[in-house]
Amino acid sequence: MTHNPGIRARLWLAAALPTVLVVVALLWVFLSRYTEDLTEAWQERARVAATQLAGSAEFPLFANDAETLLRLVDASQKGDSQLRAVKLFDRNGRTLAAAGTAEGGVLPFDARTQLLLDETRLTVQVPIAASSSRIDLFQETTGVTVPQSDAAPIGFVMMQFGLESLERRRSELLGWALAATLAAMLLATLLSTAIASRVTGPIGEISQVVQRIASGALDARAEPQHCGVLSGLAQGVNDMAQQVAMTQQELRQQVDLATQELRQQKDAAEQAARLDALTQVLGRRGFTDQAHTEIQRCMRYQHPLSLLMIDIDHFKLINDTHGHATGDAVLLHFAQLLSRELRENDMIGRIGGEEFAVLLPSSNAEQAARVAERMRAAVDQSLIHVRGQPLHFTASFGVAEFQPQELSLESLMARADAALYEAKRQGRNRVLLASPPGA
Ligand code: GH3
Ligand code: MG
Ligand code: MG
Repeated sequence: MTHNPGIRARLWLAAALPTVLVVVALLWVFLSRYTEDLTEAWQERARVAATQLAGSAEFPLFANDAETLLRLVDASQKGDSQLRAVKLFDRNGRTLAAAGTAEGGVLPFDARTQLLLDETRLTVQVPIAASSSRIDLFQETTGVTVPQSDAAPIGFVMMQFGLESLERRRSELLGWALAATLAAMLLATLLSTAIASRVTGPIGEISQVVQRIASGALDARAEPQHCGVLSGLAQGVNDMAQQVAMTQQELRQQVDLATQELRQQKDAAEQAARLDALTQVLGRRGFTDQAHTEIQRCMRYQHPLSLLMIDIDHFKLINDTHGHATGDAVLLHFAQLLSRELRENDMIGRIGGEEFAVLLPSSNAEQAARVAERMRAAVDQSLIHVRGQPLHFTASFGVAEFQPQELSLESLMARADAALYEAKRQGRNRVLLASPPGA
């Protein structure tokens, strides 16, 4: 099994990256939302604390009770560890009571609640409004008349909170977020590694098989049972390889068959070119080619070899009397008569119109003359029937035995031909032996 580090790393990234990205995005959204909420809650808490103190300070403010105001301010500051400073102002912004040390400038004194958040502190300032029920109560209990048409604040409460606790909460949150991210990444890594190894192993094996098939090893197969989730792919590759192998084998068989057919056709064409179309014995070219080979062989083994030259007597007359078609029939019949007298290694060819040659390997002149005489007699004794009429014809024979000193087929044929000519001259229908070469 091969391990492909490239594929493995890419698979791992493909599985791990989305998980990590999603976790980081979720954490980022969660962190920013939560921090905002936390800050808002903190501001709300400051506002409520200031508003509560404003409510409590209203009465002593009417009464100009500085001692109570100071007590209120002290109690507020002591009751909240985050509260760094508390101040009470009258309507003109004059400090009436204060606890702790406030930092930064004075906020504007108007009817709205002021909130100022900077790096280290949150400052809130709320107006103290005179509620009519409180005024009534105040007038009843003190007998002092207060002008009610005036909606302007009668004083202000300023509170300043340190942000240490908020910061602590924030960094706690950040710590958790980081821990969660790390855990998610670890989980993603483990999962991705598991997925990557379950996929890369089989992919390695399958690609190795595919490479072997591509390089010609069509019997290479993957093992689907080892390929886990990719067993279908492995099976598919195996099926394809099987199909390719079968197709290749079929093609090879077809090519072999076609080649064999072509070879047979070629042999048949060559054989046909060597044979004479009318008599189906060798033609002049076929005969001389084979005779040359045979002469070489007999010379090598020092066997005798003889040649007969044969010509039908007065063939022109047969043609003229009975027609060309009868002449053809006589030629065919004649070739068959001669062939009957041949042994396995003998060879016959039609080398001219009504002229034939017979090569007799391993026969000397005497043996050859006996063969020629048998042939002559067979022709002389046979009748061919033409349109019911018996037709008699004869042939003349020249016989020559090959002599090593003459060295060529042409010379042998010329001597046999001369003997044939002599046979014709002496009256035809006879066998004559050729003179030795140079005679
Ligand atoms: P000889 O006894 O001297 O051999 O006389 P011949 O008539 O046989 O000899 P000649 O050479 O004068 O005539 C041969 C004739 O054979 C002439 C030609 O028309 C005929 N011939 C040649 N080829 C064929 C053939 O394929 N078919 C037929 N029917 N006749 C052929
Ligand atoms: Mg003739
Ligand atoms: Mg002739």
